[in-house]
Amino acid sequence: MSVIVQKFGGTSVADSKKILAAARKAIRAYNEGHQVVMVVSAMGKNTDKLIALAKEITKDPPSREMDMLLSTGEQVSVALMAMAIQQFGYKAVSMTGAQIGIKTDDAHTKARIKSISTDRMRAALDDGNIVIAAGFQGVDDDFNITTLGRGGSDTTAVALAAVLNAESCEIYTDVDGVYTTDPRIVPEARRVKQISYDEMLEMASLGAGVMHSRSIEFAKNFNVPVHVRASYSDEPGTMIVSAPESESRAVCGAAIVKDEVRLTVRGVPDRPGSAQMIFQAIAARRIVMDMIVQNIGTEGKAEISFTIPKIELSATLKALEEVKRGSNEAYETLSYDDHLSKISIVGHGMVHQVGVAEKMFLALGEKNINIQMISTSTIKISVLVDQDVAQEALRTIHAAFELEKVPEDMAQELRLAETTDEQKIHMIHRLQQLEELLIDKVELDENQARITLPEVPNTPGMSAKIFRRIMEENVVVDMIVQSQGEGLQTKLSFTVPCESVEKAYHVASCVAREFQIPEPKMSPAVAKISLSGTGMRSHTTVASRMLKRLAEAQINIEMINTSEVCFSVVVAAEKGKEAMAILQEEFKHSLE
Ligand code: ASP
Ligand code: MG
Repeated sequence: MSVIVQKFGGTSVADSKKILAAARKAIRAYNEGHQVVMVVSAMGKNTDKLIALAKEITKDPPSREMDMLLSTGEQVSVALMAMAIQQFGYKAVSMTGAQIGIKTDDAHTKARIKSISTDRMRAALDDGNIVIAAGFQGVDDDFNITTLGRGGSDTTAVALAAVLNAESCEIYTDVDGVYTTDPRIVPEARRVKQISYDEMLEMASLGAGVMHSRSIEFAKNFNVPVHVRASYSDEPGTMIVSAPESESRAVCGAAIVKDEVRLTVRGVPDRPGSAQMIFQAIAARRIVMDMIVQNIGTEGKAEISFTIPKIELSATLKALEEVKRGSNEAYETLSYDDHLSKISIVGHGMVHQVGVAEKMFLALGEKNINIQMISTSTIKISVLVDQDVAQEALRTIHAAFELEKVPEDMAQELRLAETTDEQKIHMIHRLQQLEELLIDKVELDENQARITLPEVPNTPGMSAKIFRRIMEENVVVDMIVQSQGEGLQTKLSFTVPCESVEKAYHVASCVAREFQIPEPKMSPAVAKISLSGTGMRSHTTVASRMLKRLAEAQINIEMINTSEVCFSVVVAAEKGKEAMAILQEEFKHSLE
């Protein structure tokens, strides 16, 4: 019999009436002939209330006890939901994470799922029960209760759907689907009919709050169709599947992270391994760094900038202070700017279309919005802007890409890739642990050149002007990295195919002359190595492992780009093959 997993978020179980309404939805699916597993979150704002309560007792609550406390929220919901189903005359059984057999690692408050046993759930389902599973929680090897991180019930739901080989996973929530951007900021935002796993992964981690990103990693690895829909209606919402909504559109959505902090560490000795110490200290705390930019600065000292979510600022500063205490030479100065927002565009189509970045920069330039940092990846482009203009920036970009319009070639029917039971079982075997890092491929592109404008004035429209000229010459730009330089200057680097380097260099020199800034520098041949897979960023150590191995081999990294699905580094051309071999070796366990 087919299994359906239905997840109800906090707002969808906020009071007894809503619990009864959710119960009816489950019963309807049951009566349609499915086996039904419900996953529920804590009622309403209960998790927030519990956190506030803990903070009244102590500023720094121990994480083990935090998990003990927070897991009670979901336990309340499962019990009430089981009662609701039973009073309608149907069989139901509630289960905590431990009772289901959701085994996690011991990283309290951010635990990852290692394995899930399906025996107990299957037995209850076969016995005619609707199974009500507590979201967001599990148990470690020593039977300590763990939680998966805020919003983790989504991950529980998709994980259960994956191991039960469910037909679909329905996420009932207080919005009716996934939008092209946050409709509270951009009223024209459109609900999309369909979005791909990769696009959703990027969107989720870039601020689209609908889904916990780790849940999409599960969905992608196990090919679980996820249906995000409103708990207050029966209308279909958005399907998250393997294919995008439109084949022709470059961009499927725009996202905003309102509170983003940029940290800049200067005076890092230009010695193999020194930058890596910094990344490692942060990664060890499971802080996700985004927009990592490493530049070779002046006098042989490197400079590293990266962004983190604001809530991680104090933990990050602590990590960096510890590094400095460990070795005073680790870096000279540390500064941060916490009045920034990150605006990103995402879309599969970007890979094939030229001019996407330029269009974004141009739209911002026309509105006089200054770009503080840029980083691109295969299917996303992110920029940092001042918080005060961030919402305007989001509206501007949404309009520039006409995201409110329904794509003409919108997929009419869902094209679901069929996954057989064998394939799913193979996947479970391939993964020693369910949430393990998976790398699909490591690729080497030796046909690139790098151009760097070392001192670009930090004023609105600059990047747009530069890239417009380059576009006019029909040069395809691949990676773009812009970072904060000293004072009012920024440093802009980009890669182009080798055969266009002369042209691109010529344009860059003309621009330099026109703006009376220093001449561009170029590396006529560089190599780009890209790792693509799942969990590249949520496994916070991927970047630091990469940098460490390359540093040990004395390979200098000229550019770095990160995203949920792809990590790329640019190194000197003659080091390309060696770097590729090193990374293949380092990640061989994640590759097979
Ligand atoms: N109750 C948890 C939270 O509020 C988990 C969830 O809702 O997904 O973060
Ligand atoms: Mg949620």
